[in-house]
Amino acid sequence: MDVKTHKYTGTQKLVYTNNSPDTLTRLYYHLYFNAFQPGSMMDVRSRSIADPDRRVKDRISKLTPDEIGMLEPTSLSQDQNPLKYKIEGTILEVDLATPILPHTSTTLNMVFKGQVPVQIRRSGRDNKEGIDYSMSQWYPKLSEYDAQGWHPNPYIGREFYGVWGDFDVSITIDADYVVAASGILQNPNEIGYGYEAPGTKVKRNKKEITYHFIAEQVHDFMWAADPDYVHKIVQVPNGPKIHYFYVEDSITEKTWPQLMEISPKMVTFMNQQFGEYAYSDFMVIQGGDGGMEYPMSTLIVGRGSLNGLIGVTIHEMFHSWYQGALATNESLYPWMDEGFTSYASALTQQFLHGTERPLEGRVNRYIKLTQGEDQEPLTTHSDHYSTNGAYGTAAYSMGALVPYQLAYIMGEEKFHQAFRDYYYSWQFRHPTPDDFIKVMEKNSGMVLDWFFLDWIGSTKLLDYAIGKVTEDNEQLNIELTNINQRPMPVEVLVTYKNGDLERYYIPLRLMRGDKIFTDGVKTVQLEDWPWTNPTYSFEIKAKISDVEKIEIDPDRGMVDIDYSNNIWSSTSSSNE
Ligand SMILES: [Zn+2]
Repeated sequence: MDVKTHKYTGTQKLVYTNNSPDTLTRLYYHLYFNAFQPGSMMDVRSRSIADPDRRVKDRISKLTPDEIGMLEPTSLSQDQNPLKYKIEGTILEVDLATPILPHTSTTLNMVFKGQVPVQIRRSGRDNKEGIDYSMSQWYPKLSEYDAQGWHPNPYIGREFYGVWGDFDVSITIDADYVVAASGILQNPNEIGYGYEAPGTKVKRNKKEITYHFIAEQVHDFMWAADPDYVHKIVQVPNGPKIHYFYVEDSITEKTWPQLMEISPKMVTFMNQQFGEYAYSDFMVIQGGDGGMEYPMSTLIVGRGSLNGLIGVTIHEMFHSWYQGALATNESLYPWMDEGFTSYASALTQQFLHGTERPLEGRVNRYIKLTQGEDQEPLTTHSDHYSTNGAYGTAAYSMGALVPYQLAYIMGEEKFHQAFRDYYYSWQFRHPTPDDFIKVMEKNSGMVLDWFFLDWIGSTKLLDYAIGKVTEDNEQLNIELTNINQRPMPVEVLVTYKNGDLERYYIPLRLMRGDKIFTDGVKTVQLEDWPWTNPTYSFEIKAKISDVEKIEIDPDRGMVDIDYSNNIWSSTSSSNE
C-alpha cells in the first residue's frame, strides 16, 4: 500500500474447490472499486433513481482521475496456465484453461493493482471523519456459484454474497499506520499498536511494516488504516474479545468508552437470546460512513451520539449472525439479513433501554409504505427495487416483521428456540428461504408456507375487524371480518367490566397446528378459520352489559393496517 499515491498492488493465490455437482468452465470475480468511476453503473443508477442516496447522489460523476477507484488484474493464471479474461465494470469474466470438475480444486494466481477512491460509500479514503483508509471490497473477490448458478452481480451499492474461505492476508504499509482488519493478527509483538502481549517492548524502526492476518471460515476480508487510531480491547466473559479502533477527539473520547462499558452486558444478551457469536474476536472500527458489516468486524460512523453509536454497533454486530455466519444471499433475500438483524437489534435495544413495543417503528414504516405507490414484493432483487425507499422499508422493516409475526403465530418462546435452531443448524451453509421455513415448521409443528407466500411473495395487506356484536338469550354473538386478503390466526381479548380477561383464539386452518399460550390469561380455543371465509362468528356466555371491551390482536402481533376497527367497546355503540 502506497499511502502517498493511494495506489496498491497485490498478489493473490486462490485455491478454489468446486463442491457442486457441476463442471465449471468460467469464473467471475468482483472488482468493486471500479464502481467509483464516472459513468459506472453505480454512478448512473444514483443519478437516475428517483430518490438517490444522499451520500452518493452525483458525487461519483465528479471524481477526478486521482480520486476514482480502480481495481484490475495485471496477470491471471490457472495451475500455471495463463488465462483470458475481460473486465466489464465491476465484474471480471474469466475463461478457464481447464474446466473444474465436480469435487476437485484448482489454483488461481493473480497479480492485481488498485487505487483507493475518495470515500463515496462504505470504502475509500479520507472520509468526513478523517479516517485515512476504509478498505472494504478492495481485492478481486471470487463470485459465488451455488445451486442457483453464478452470482456476478454488478456493484451498484447494495448487498453482498461471497464464497467461504480461509483468508491469509499480509498487508505492507507505512509503519505509522495502525491497521484493523477482519482477522486475527499473527505477529502482534512485531506490530504493537495495542495488539502486543501486555508488557511487550515493541521495536518498529522500519519505514514499512507488514501486518499478517488470518481469518478462517469467512466470506470477505476488510481492513482499515489510520495513523491516529487508538486500539482498545474488552473481553466479554464467556464471549468474544472485542477490539475498538477509533480516533480520539472531544466526542469520541466520551462516547466510545461508554460503548465499551456496555458491551459485555449487550453481547451477553445477544449470545443468549440469538445463539453464540461464531468467532473469537470482533472488531468495531471507526470508518466514518454509516455502518457496514464485514466478517468479524464492522466499519461504523464514530462521531455520532452515544445512543447512535450503541445502536449502530448492535446492528452491525448482529450481521455477524445473519450475514457473517449464515451468509444468506443478501441480494436475493435481504429480509433474511437486514430484516433479521433489525429484529434482533430492536430486542437488544429493548433489553438495554426498556423500550416498549420495540418493533412499532418498523410496523409504522411498513404501513406508510403500503399507503403509497412504491411498494414492491420482497422477492425483488435488492438492486432492482425502483426506489431506495421501497427497498429500505422492504428489507429492514418488512424483513424485521418476519420474525416478529412468526413469534405471534408460534408464541414467543417457541419462536426464539426455532430462531436459535436456525442459526446453529445453518451456520456456514448459505441458507435460502426454504431452509428457514423448514426450521420454523419443524420447531412449531405448524405449516407456515401461507405466511411466507403472502408476506414475501406478494404485497397483500391484512385488515381484520370486529363486525356485529349482538346479544341473544344471555349469549353474545361476535362477528369478525377479514376485510383484506392476507390471513392470520386471530386472537380476541374480551375485557369484562369486573376486570376479568378472556382470550378467544382462532387458529388459521392452513396452519395445521396451534399456538400454546403461557401468559396465564384464560384462553378458549375456537374452531379453525378457513381462509376462504370473509367472516367468522362465535358465541360467548355473557351479557352485553357485562363487557367493557372486545379487541382483536391487543398485542399488535399480526401487523394489521388498520387497528381502529379492531375494537368494540361498551362506550361506543357504533358496532352494535
Ligand atoms: Zn444492516
